[in-house]
Amino acid sequence: MRRTILLAPILFLSFHAIAQSTVSILLKPDRVFDGEQVFTNYWVLVDSGKITAVGAAGSFAVPKNCSTIVLKGQTLLPGLIEGHSHIFLHPYNETKWEDQVLKESRAERNARAVNHLRATLKAGFTTTRDLGTEGLMYDDVGMKIALMKGIIPGPDLITSTRAIVATGSYAPVSPSPDVTLPQGAAEADGVAGLVHEARTQIGKGADFIKVYADVPWAPGKRASPSFTEAELKALVDAVNSSGRYVAAHAVTAEGMRRAVEAGVKTLEHGDQGTREVFELMKAKGVGYCATLAAAEAYAEYAGWVKGRDPEPASVTEKKVSFKLAVDIGVKICMGGDVGVYAHGDNAREMELMVEYGMKPLDVLKATTSVNADVFGIDQKAGRIRTGLPADILVVEGDPSVNIKQIRNVRLVLKNGTAVK
Ligand SMILES: [Zn+2]
Repeated sequence: MRRTILLAPILFLSFHAIAQSTVSILLKPDRVFDGEQVFTNYWVLVDSGKITAVGAAGSFAVPKNCSTIVLKGQTLLPGLIEGHSHIFLHPYNETKWEDQVLKESRAERNARAVNHLRATLKAGFTTTRDLGTEGLMYDDVGMKIALMKGIIPGPDLITSTRAIVATGSYAPVSPSPDVTLPQGAAEADGVAGLVHEARTQIGKGADFIKVYADVPWAPGKRASPSFTEAELKALVDAVNSSGRYVAAHAVTAEGMRRAVEAGVKTLEHGDQGTREVFELMKAKGVGYCATLAAAEAYAEYAGWVKGRDPEPASVTEKKVSFKLAVDIGVKICMGGDVGVYAHGDNAREMELMVEYGMKPLDVLKATTSVNADVFGIDQKAGRIRTGLPADILVVEGDPSVNIKQIRNVRLVLKNGTAVK
């Protein structure tokens, strides 16, 4: 039965030799990025879904029945890790967020997610961390089970289920105060309320908990904090006790400060981050998903044409705060808020990280080993290392020099099976 599960995702394979293989595969690319650095003249051996040897050409024994694949001019990397996705959302210029939450059926949204997951995997992202189902309750957990059973192809899914917001703070918002609309996240308040909601979500299968540390409170308003520091601390304490962590949405300096002081593991967005708060993040080792691509996508949906129009304040703010975080030495994760823009276009965030001031090699690290370490999945993903699952991406050229090459996908292996 194990083999059935292993072979089930081979629905659209294009790499015949690998797909039907249960023998070892020796991959010989021009270079290997192992999650930390780039090596030339390196080989990688894959067997039974795992990486079984990595090293300089000829430095390890190669089994007799091994298939060899020469990847001329290509770079082999660990499967990429998307740090901030919403698999149940699709670009807001197709359908506004409110309409997705209120007018699309659960079946439609789940059907879309199946496509989104396939597109993510084919783009070379073999793991994705989902930051909230936006009205779909615990369906990310159901989707994760379907992926694990091999019913649908896709990346490993790290789930947060519903996300937690303060009562009255989130959306959709009815124009009439007499009408309460279904919400895109779970409302909870006070120490007892937050702890109860977090434990409920953990019981339903959340791998981590997402909390909104600040929100606009009403459409069109600037964000302000949603929870007190005492509430956030109690939440983090309860979640950490279960062996999980908290990720905080925060755009204001005060929302960020409260979340970081409370002990969250990752911080999402951070648009208005100041020197003080980024220094605090660095001191506490908090991972930062800046979601640059979402900020540009929002601006584009509002009519901005990049390269033609003057840069909107929201994009400038993002550029300045991101560069500040990089210069201060904050632990930079890669997470773009994909779903706001198209799934499969995940590389957009990596390109913007370079455009806004990070070195391509550091962006590759952020998207592999750093994300794996911060999310606590370093024993499963993020490096080309003996013993890890063979989640492997091969691209044309050298993305450590030109990040755009990350889009020129030649091969994706998920647990040693070719999916592209
Ligand atoms: Zn998000």
